[in-house]
Amino acid sequence: PAVADLIDGKAFAAGLRGRIATLAGEFEARAGRKAGLAVVLVGMDPASQVYVRSKGKATVEAGMASFEHKLEADTSEADLLALIETLNADPAVDGILVQLPLPAHLDEQKVIATISPDKDVDGFHVINAGRLSVGQPGFVPCTPLGCLMLLKDRLGNLSGLDAVVIGRSNIVGKPMAQLLLAESCTVTVAHSRTRNLPEVVRRADIVVAAVGRPELVKGDWIKPGATVIDVGINRVDAAEPGKTRLVGDVDFAGAKAVAGAITPVPGGVGPMTIAVLLRNALVAAYANAGIDLPA
Ligand code: NDP
Repeated sequence: PAVADLIDGKAFAAGLRGRIATLAGEFEARAGRKAGLAVVLVGMDPASQVYVRSKGKATVEAGMASFEHKLEADTSEADLLALIETLNADPAVDGILVQLPLPAHLDEQKVIATISPDKDVDGFHVINAGRLSVGQPGFVPCTPLGCLMLLKDRLGNLSGLDAVVIGRSNIVGKPMAQLLLAESCTVTVAHSRTRNLPEVVRRADIVVAAVGRPELVKGDWIKPGATVIDVGINRVDAAEPGKTRLVGDVDFAGAKAVAGAITPVPGGVGPMTIAVLLRNALVAAYANAGIDLPA
């Protein structure tokens, strides 16, 4: 049987981070300061702590300044918004990221709306979502932009291809669909109410799964030769008692036997997300300093 090529997101992300580090060095030489990314974490969610730590580490490794703000879980909305306003006004801060999810007493939409759109490196502000939907330049959410980079690297021109995005969240599914539409794909967005999902997926030259359900997408749903991008990160019990392992939203073994190419989990989309975050922060720095980004 055919075996799909592996799309090595880890290697692609490493290359991207290398190019960003070079550009960050040039930025520092021209601007007289490092590009700066501020990350705000509210509370002690273990997964969020890991993400914030790895984002900070990657920022410093890329030659940028990392400003980490860790707030108590019971921080008031007023105090959080005041911190964001301070970061908005701080010329050393080019990008601001508030790690989600926030504790329940904080209004995520209000918090995101307070971030200056020019520093919104996550691309979650409604201004940036609107820019993406009307085709204006702006910040695009990191995970779907990383998926698009992998797709273009693999397939080149995406024009006319049938793409199915499973999931319609504001941070992955919807912006992914917008990006594919902008590349002139014929885009279908599937979700929990979609009828006959296997049939919908079978039409697709490109499948992007962003569902959060372990191994939902089966191998016999995949059109032979299709390109499969698995965004899912799901922790499940491993065969060995007491151990866990990570799986995607796609049955990897099943899909690998049918697809033309597929991202593994881990090592596919995951590493792209932080690399694109660094890219967005660097783009913000050049723009905020009024320096043209080298071609
Ligand atoms: P959300 O929970 O916000 O959205 C999930 C989407 O999947 C919803 O639109 C939901 O539909 C849809 N859905 C749920 N069940 C089904 C089903 N049985 N059939 C079809 N559609 C279904 O998740 P996110 O978008 O935030 O994340 C998706 C996955 O990606 C998660 O596993 C997450 O961990 C991972 N992720 C990975 C990142 C990375 O860096 N690699 C970054 C961000 C997320 P409905 O709208 O109808 O409820």
